Amino acid sequence: MKPRVFALANQKGGVGKTTTTINLGTALAAIGERVLIIDLDPQGNASTGLGIDRRQRAVSTYHIMATRTPVSDAVRETAVPNLFVAPSTMDLLGLELEIAQERDRAQRLRLALIAMNKTRNAADTFTYVLIDCPPSLNLLTINALVAADAVLVPLQCEFFALEGLSQLLKSIEQVRSTLNPRLSIHGVVLTMFDPRNNLANQVVADVRQFMGSKVYDTVIPRNVRVSEAPSHGKPALLYDLKCAGSQAYLRLASEVIHRERSLKSAA
Ligand code: ADP
Ligand code: MG
Repeated sequence: MKPRVFALANQKGGVGKTTTTINLGTALAAIGERVLIIDLDPQGNASTGLGIDRRQRAVSTYHIMATRTPVSDAVRETAVPNLFVAPSTMDLLGLELEIAQERDRAQRLRLALIAMNKTRNAADTFTYVLIDCPPSLNLLTINALVAADAVLVPLQCEFFALEGLSQLLKSIEQVRSTLNPRLSIHGVVLTMFDPRNNLANQVVADVRQFMGSKVYDTVIPRNVRVSEAPSHGKPALLYDLKCAGSQAYLRLASEVIHRERSLKSAA
């Protein structure tokens, strides 16, 4: 079976890519999907936030992309049933230079996922793959965009939210017109909304005007429980299911699934 592959991308750092990858992944797993998170950020925040310590990262996304190691060799279980992660290490920092001369350098991740989908092993079967991208439009992010069916863009509710978005949209368009014609934008998720910040509502309105129906109805609130969870190596949904942030991620997951269904019925 072929999973749906989402790249969570925004070249700005600190906008909620990793938090959204972890918690959307957890929420999807909680409603019965089998989810693989691929950590493509050398910082490895998604791996750490899911409780994978450094010793468990001997095989990582670096090996998948540099030496064509099968994805399944890197996959680790998490504390969440049905949620798995291919962790990353700082080795990824050197990858771009190492494979710069290779013809398939932008397709390494896509080829790895194609090989994974060909194996009949039940353990390698996922319904969703979420790729946590680094805060840059580098070769790692390009690999994610080439491997993905769709992009999910986390945008922080702050004054400069839209700045840089057109650059991201341009990169998506470039990948679509060359290496990956099926790439679409699944949606934009507004993160870290703080109603006490007077500007926040204006930012939400501006983003909705600019991106229209691409913006999910669900807005993720700024919530201290969400930011505490990674230091316990747990998704917010495990750390505190009842907190406003966890509840918002559950709503986002059902919106994502709903959008998937309407895309399918339109196809
Ligand atoms: P990115 O992956 O885009 O760099 P992160 O997901 O790591 O962004 O988030 C940046 C910081 O903001 C982290 O410290 C994270 O814990 C915090 N954060 C993210 N989302 C929330 C939220 N909804 N409420 C509070 N803090 C958040
Ligand atoms: Mg991150």
